[in-house]
Amino acid sequence: MKSKLLIAGFIALATTAMLKATPNPQLNYHVDRFADIEVLRYDVPGFDRLSLNQKKLVYYLTQAALQGRDILTDQNCRYNLAVRQTLEAIYTNYTGARTDDNYKGFELYLKQVWFANGIHHHYGNDKFVPTFSQQWFDSQVRALGAAKLPLAQGETLDSFLATMDKVIFDPTFMAKKVEQGEGKDLVATSAVNFYEGVTQKEVEDYYASIKVPGDPTPISYGLNSKVVKRDGKVVELPYKVGGLYSDAILNILYWLSKAKEVAENAEQASTINRLTEYYASGNLRVFDQYSITWARDTESRVDFINGFIEDYNDPLGMKGSWESIVNFKNEEASHRTEVISQNAQWFEDHSPIDDRFRKPQVKGVSAKVITACILAGDSYPSTPIGINLPNADWIRAAYGSKSVTLENITEAYDIASHGNGFNEEFVIDEPTRELLEKYLFITDNMHTDLHECLGHASGQLLPGVDLSVMKSYGSCLEETRADLFALYYLADPKLIELGLLDNPDAYKAEYYKYMLNGLMTQLMRIELGKDLEEAHMRNRQLIAGWCLDHGRADNVVELIKRDGKTYVKINDYQKLRGLFGTLLAEIQRIKSEGDYNACAALIEKYAVKIDPVLHKEVLDRYAKLNIAPYKGFVNPTYVPVTDAAGNIIDVTITNNEGYAEQMLRYSRDYSPLTHPISK
Ligand code: ZN
Repeated sequence: MKSKLLIAGFIALATTAMLKATPNPQLNYHVDRFADIEVLRYDVPGFDRLSLNQKKLVYYLTQAALQGRDILTDQNCRYNLAVRQTLEAIYTNYTGARTDDNYKGFELYLKQVWFANGIHHHYGNDKFVPTFSQQWFDSQVRALGAAKLPLAQGETLDSFLATMDKVIFDPTFMAKKVEQGEGKDLVATSAVNFYEGVTQKEVEDYYASIKVPGDPTPISYGLNSKVVKRDGKVVELPYKVGGLYSDAILNILYWLSKAKEVAENAEQASTINRLTEYYASGNLRVFDQYSITWARDTESRVDFINGFIEDYNDPLGMKGSWESIVNFKNEEASHRTEVISQNAQWFEDHSPIDDRFRKPQVKGVSAKVITACILAGDSYPSTPIGINLPNADWIRAAYGSKSVTLENITEAYDIASHGNGFNEEFVIDEPTRELLEKYLFITDNMHTDLHECLGHASGQLLPGVDLSVMKSYGSCLEETRADLFALYYLADPKLIELGLLDNPDAYKAEYYKYMLNGLMTQLMRIELGKDLEEAHMRNRQLIAGWCLDHGRADNVVELIKRDGKTYVKINDYQKLRGLFGTLLAEIQRIKSEGDYNACAALIEKYAVKIDPVLHKEVLDRYAKLNIAPYKGFVNPTYVPVTDAAGNIIDVTITNNEGYAEQMLRYSRDYSPLTHPISK
């Protein structure tokens, strides 16, 4: 499970050293700006202090990470790779005027496709609308000729072009990456490439037929496969060596084998072994063994994820999108998360939920602050800021989970947003702005720590409850639960007692921001007239809207108008904390009992619909600030330094690559799944 960035705008540079994000003067954090996107750069402080072996390990793992890019692109939609190759062929062969409107529209579209790893918005899920003409596109494609295009075997240029036209220009064809609308066939109406030629009912019947009832250690059904029909029967095509994505997986395995040679310890080597075995066989029991071994390895400095992990892109919440993040532990900052995880049982015991839903023993919640070295697959260029894995509930209960906060990423966001005018526009008054400047960076990071390390790991299901009944509501429910857990405890005096915060009012910074974001400012990411779809956005509006509603009698929170502008005003922070606790108890009950009806009712009431008047106001005020609602990153490049005999004697970092430059290099050097075409 991932935490995504709450908000793109706050300035939050605190005054004390412990709380501060320090810019690297050598680094230009701003890389590119287009559509609703800003591309940034992140620093990798401390890499040069790793041992040679650790540097080699990072290098090999980053290579393994980059080899999976095509997998994710293909998972997002089965036309994506052909579209990307075609666009890149036009881009690199174009000789016309670069000031031409069609060319500029085309370049924008390509940048969007790169960013989203496909033709649908990475967050909003809608298909991009091209602002260049189909006629211009057709003439460019014809000018390239068949040899420079990714035609399938035996395909004519005409039929290839007809397909591309439909995929790019027909707004009704594959209009949505992930459909979540109530009452629709979520499989048939979603463009994701996890299913082909099957209905939602056929998929659900198929999985119901293979699930073992009452299995206390169920595999993650359907995590690593595509579901299709063969001879009238529903079958799974696994992602594995010799199966789907074999060529990419073989390249990943090559680099994993190099990584294993320089593993830091036996535990880590055995984690890599298990992962290798799983990629080779596609066996989900082996994936569980890998997950357990991985969760137990808390000693290694360098760590990574690489595989089919999160299921947010599947409307049925089963299929894992491919991703990889390589990182090493930030020893200093990890003190904070270590203190939190050492006290996990205290937090579990005191959480405001029914005793039946409480874990009698919280197992091994390990938490650390990490420095990300590479972002790949579903975590690139848009990235989470916190991750908690493994996802399987029974593994978490029996073996614990690993939770990380990506602090060099949150620092980059923070540094890049300095001085953008957001707080002045949306925060109600100067004292609140001062509070945010002083305490938001630390309380926001701590919110992520608590969400990942304790929130997701907390609570238990009643015996026999199968969460797959929650369907498309499952992710939102889980994120709501983890957020509420974090919010509730941010205001707890325990954090002062543990020395994690030095001011009993610090939590108010995060409370204010959370309510402002959930009630108003996150709407800047949504087009007027649309509903909320993404699980994290839904969960934030659910929490904020529910508290606004249920706090009305006591006037806990209100939306006030001043000079025609709406502001969030929090009148009673302690009562707001009480509301977070009450809602947490209810959300935990819903999860523990598997109460689908209550879950659907809450989400449909608070998390989906948007007030159109307020929405328009937010968009208008936001537009004046010219802040990109979404941000993502280019990666640094790791360069091995070799001696005369070819041995790696050091690994250095370069960190000045442009956005298009990096995307084209990745397409050239890390594209095992695309058809080779002549240059
Ligand atoms: Zn989460």
